[in-house]
Amino acid sequence: MINENKILYADWAATTPIAAEVRCAMEPWLWRRFGNPSSLHGAGQEAKEAVEGARVETAALIGASPEEVFFTSGGTESSNWAIKGCAMDALSKNSRRRILVSAVEHPSVLRACEALAPLGFRTELIPVDERGVVRLDALRDRMREDCVLCAVMHANNETGVIQPVAECARIAHASGALFLCDGVQSVGHIPVDVTALDCDFLSLSGHKLCAPKGVGALYIRKGVSVPPLIHGGGQERGFRSGTENVASVVGLGEACRLAREELSRGEDKRIAALRDGLETRLLTLGGRVNGGGAERVPGTLNLSFRRVGGESLMLLCDLYGVCISTGSACSLGHGDGTSHVLRAMKLSEEEAKGAVRISIGRETTEACVREMAEIVERCVCSAREA
Ligand code: PLP
Repeated sequence: MINENKILYADWAATTPIAAEVRCAMEPWLWRRFGNPSSLHGAGQEAKEAVEGARVETAALIGASPEEVFFTSGGTESSNWAIKGCAMDALSKNSRRRILVSAVEHPSVLRACEALAPLGFRTELIPVDERGVVRLDALRDRMREDCVLCAVMHANNETGVIQPVAECARIAHASGALFLCDGVQSVGHIPVDVTALDCDFLSLSGHKLCAPKGVGALYIRKGVSVPPLIHGGGQERGFRSGTENVASVVGLGEACRLAREELSRGEDKRIAALRDGLETRLLTLGGRVNGGGAERVPGTLNLSFRRVGGESLMLLCDLYGVCISTGSACSLGHGDGTSHVLRAMKLSEEEAKGAVRISIGRETTEACVREMAEIVERCVCSAREA
């Protein structure tokens, strides 16, 4: 994707541009159609209908029923709600006080779990193998009847590695624990079905699938009870108060409709082929693909080039108009600034510091990838000479 400023954008895992169709769907709700969905008059009721239409589209993308979808401000709030909600429920009902999470979760999961320590909850990390895939044997060993919740993301934001979510959920459920899947990097990018994944909660975020920032949703499986995190006027059937962000919710609904249409046309395969071509070409420069041995979402490529610092490479590419990233936009750096994900995959410090993430999406063409590859190649060579 090249925009008016001649920037080659290759940081789709950090955020995506708003799709033209999404902008068109949102526009009336930013201007002339401004009713409050809680109002009983016509203007309010048309806004309510728009929100409910978006709920139907969002549910359809993940194989859920509309009444299992709750709109939130994004992936962070969704996961926080599931985690803290489960903990609050457990405090009043049982003695389950352990939370098991994969070592490569996003900070919105890791930090939310850690925040529960003063209430007596202990968070334990499940290790991953060298490809970045959760070790099922380790999960099985640690899972016991005192576990309240297990969280394993669907696709990792730094490497794109896809986790064996259904197997993890089965292990959690066998001990009576609930299961959260952070689907922020997978929803809209690969087919996602909450029944096949067997999760009780699934978080998703608008800005990773061409809808605006600041909107997302939490899927809560029918029959699972979780108290609200945000109290007030009782919107979202009493579970998430606050006047609905109608325009953004409509945008999310349209983005979900669009993603479903594009997935059925095989857009994921087109993007994967572009990514694979780019990967093969860049590997000739000498380096490794982090997570390369595992199944990955189509648009994400994490590479460590030999004898190149990731940050210098990212800055150099930026000078030439190519936006790539080191790790993730909201990386949970260690003291030395390296990614907790790459460390969990046992990369050496040098490899972890050398990592860059290149992520492409629906507007990326073959020509963009070619141009991008040439610039990255030039930058790797000059970074090595420097
Ligand atoms: N989970 C993952 C895997 C992410 O990549 C992100 C964003 O980078 C989030 C959660 C947070 O989502 P949001 O930005 O909507 O709060």
